[in-house]
Amino acid sequence: MIVSCAQCGARNRVDENAAQSRKPVCGRCGVELDVAQTSAPRVVTDATFAREVLQAGQTPVLVDCWAEWCGPCRMIAPVLDQLAAEARGQYIIAKLNVDENQQTAVRFQIRSIPTLLIFKNGTLLDTIIGVQPKQAIAQKLERAQAA
Ligand SMILES: [Zn+2]
Repeated sequence: MIVSCAQCGARNRVDENAAQSRKPVCGRCGVELDVAQTSAPRVVTDATFAREVLQAGQTPVLVDCWAEWCGPCRMIAPVLDQLAAEARGQYIIAKLNVDENQQTAVRFQIRSIPTLLIFKNGTLLDTIIGVQPKQAIAQKLERAQAA
């Protein structure tokens, strides 16, 4: 599988069996590759947003802006879990609770939720507002990878 380095964004080919016994490291910068974290959405906060999202480099990061009380957010959550499980380092799925992280919500002018923000190289590339079918979100992620 291909795992993008969280530090420098380099794409590394990782042998899944070897990764069980020995922690894989990035071929370019040498940091430990986070193989497990690619399988579930990553929780980001105001405090970690810059590092986890804006500094993720060439790997597109989709940020699901959600809240506890939001029904449609619960509808879209399983879709994002699936996309995260299928990511294999090609992109990152992240979740931001807008009630707990208002600084980021205000910064990106989140007015309705769910809003999905797609970042690449530290800039906002695409915005998806409301519940969308998985295919539509996957297409946006593919476009972001090619961009
Ligand atoms: Zn690296």
